Order: sequence, then structure tokens, then C-alpha cells
Amino acid sequence: RIVVVGSVNADLVARVARHPRPGETVLGVDLAVLPGGKGANQAVAAARLGSDVALVGAVGDDAFAPVALSGLAAAGVDTTAVARVPGPTGIALVTVSDDGENAIVVVPGANGSVSPTTVGEHGPALAAAGVVVLQCELPRATVEAAARAARGRVLLNLAPAVALDPDVVRLADPLVVNEHEARGALEVLGAEHPSRPATGRTADDAAVASALVAAGVRSVVLTLGARGALVALQGRDGVEHVQAPRVTAVDTTGAGDAFVGALTHRLAAGDRLLDAVRFANRVGAFAATSVGAQPSYPSAGDTLPGTDA
Ligand code: ADP
Repeated sequence: RIVVVGSVNADLVARVARHPRPGETVLGVDLAVLPGGKGANQAVAAARLGSDVALVGAVGDDAFAPVALSGLAAAGVDTTAVARVPGPTGIALVTVSDDGENAIVVVPGANGSVSPTTVGEHGPALAAAGVVVLQCELPRATVEAAARAARGRVLLNLAPAVALDPDVVRLADPLVVNEHEARGALEVLGAEHPSRPATGRTADDAAVASALVAAGVRSVVLTLGARGALVALQGRDGVEHVQAPRVTAVDTTGAGDAFVGALTHRLAAGDRLLDAVRFANRVGAFAATSVGAQPSYPSAGDTLPGTDA
């Protein structure tokens, strides 16, 4: 089984023609209140594809809690380890512009109550999991404790790129990061890249992926949005570029989480990392073609863009 230790949020999503600058007000349309949070999104993505998934996390006791939990229930994720705590549920304020880019403010709320003690309470479940999936929207000590409690594979999505113990980052197999997080991860590992590589240039991204592996990370998956993802492995020279299928992006919110969920689904089933990344790109691209995070994720029967070959 897959155990995700992560955030559960309600996403308040407004569409805007363009994002407001500081001090500016823009008019939005279509406010939607949707289930979100990186932990919940990744759990839902893997469960929709057919994996057996449990989530360790927390929601509050406010009106947003049922919304935050709704997607998990619908996808069949085991939520017995999701605590209901007094106070607000985690919230993400999301604006999505007409070009499909998003800007997000996350207020952790109940996610902040998920502690190393919580992890200890679920120690046997974490030790028994084939894959433990972690992101960085929970307190840092919680993420570190969960990584250390795992006996199977640890997928660490260093999002956002917080300063985890470098030894925990090195446990990741794979470490999954986007272009910005990849540069943050280098700093976390104390391996700042000498040439200050730019984002948006695949050759520079490949150098960053190599540097992460050289700094001791077992394997690295660096996501590149529409350009797909890079894969670098300990003990293997070079970086593989896996292209994403070409789609018309409508809203990339949660595409990274769909990618992680799909990657986990395939790794739990025994795929090689490179094959799992090919599949994850197709699921990430699918998720970019419709609005929202969880509502945009495919089920096992859906036709995905591209091919696995
Ligand atoms: P994040 O959303 O975490 O910043 P990325 O933007 O790198 O992550 O996207 C994660 C994955 O989602 C990509 O590796 C790719 O598989 C898929 N994806 C995102 N945007 C697009 C797009 N415009 N076209 C096709 N695939 C996309």
C-alpha cells in the first residue's frame, strides 16, 4: 500500500485575466471551492488510478473541512489517519490567469498540528508501506520523522523547498522537484551550483539534476512543465529527458501533484523509475487540460494523451 503523509486543504480558486500586482485589485470570475492540499491531491491521484492509498494528516472543525475531505472519500483513500482538530482547515487562495499560470497563498491551519508524535502513532503503517509519499506543507520535523519511519521506498516532493535535514533529502528515491524547487534542493544539500543555472533551459536543468545526484540523492525527477521531466539516478551517467505529450493547458494547478500521484502508483506496482516517469507525464498533461487540482485527475479508464513508448 501507499501511505501519503501530507497536507489537506480547501482551495479557493478564482479565474483572472491576469494576476494582480502588489497594491492592485483585479476582478475575478468563477470562484470555486475545491478539495486540495499537496498531500490530498497526490493521494487522490494515485487512488483514482487504482492504488490502495492511506493518508496521514489533519483537517479543522470549520465549514471547509468537509470540502477538503470530499475528494479523498470519493477516490476511496483511507482517511482513518486524518485527524479532526479544533480550529481552521488548511486553505489555499489560488488565482489562475488566462494563460494558465497560477499564483497561490497557502495558510496551513490544521496541517500545522500534524507532528512527529502523529507520525509515531502511525509508525507501523509507515513501516509497512511499499511507498511513503511526502511533501513539505507539513512541519519540517514531521516530514523528517515520516521519512525516517519508512522502511520501503520514500518519494519526497520537496515542495515548497524547505530546509529539511540533508540526510533526509538523500533518503529520497526519488526526490521530485520542479525547476525552482530543484535549485532550492541544491541549497538545502549545501551544494549550490557554481554556474548559477537559469530556469527554462533544459541543459541547465540537467546540470542541476546531476548536481543533486552528485550531492548524494539516490534518484531525482525534475519536472519541467510542458517540457516533461528529467530523470537522474545514482550510479548511472547522464540525465534522461522524458517529454510530456503536447496538450492545450487550461489550468496547471495540481499538475505536479497528479504527476507525483501517478509516479507513486506505478512505482508501487513495481515499474522502473523511467517507465513510471513516462506514465506520470501523461497524467500530469491530462491534469493540465481542465480546471482545478483533484477534479482534473484521470481515473484508470480515462484515455491519456501521448503514449508510454
Ligand atoms: P509544478 O506544477 O509542481 O510546478 P510542473 O509545472 O513541472 O510542476 O508540472 C508537473 C508535470 O505536469 C510536468 O512534468 C508534466 O508532466 C505535466 N505538465 C504540466 N504542465 C504541462 C503542460 N503545459 N503540458 C503538458 N504537461 C504538463
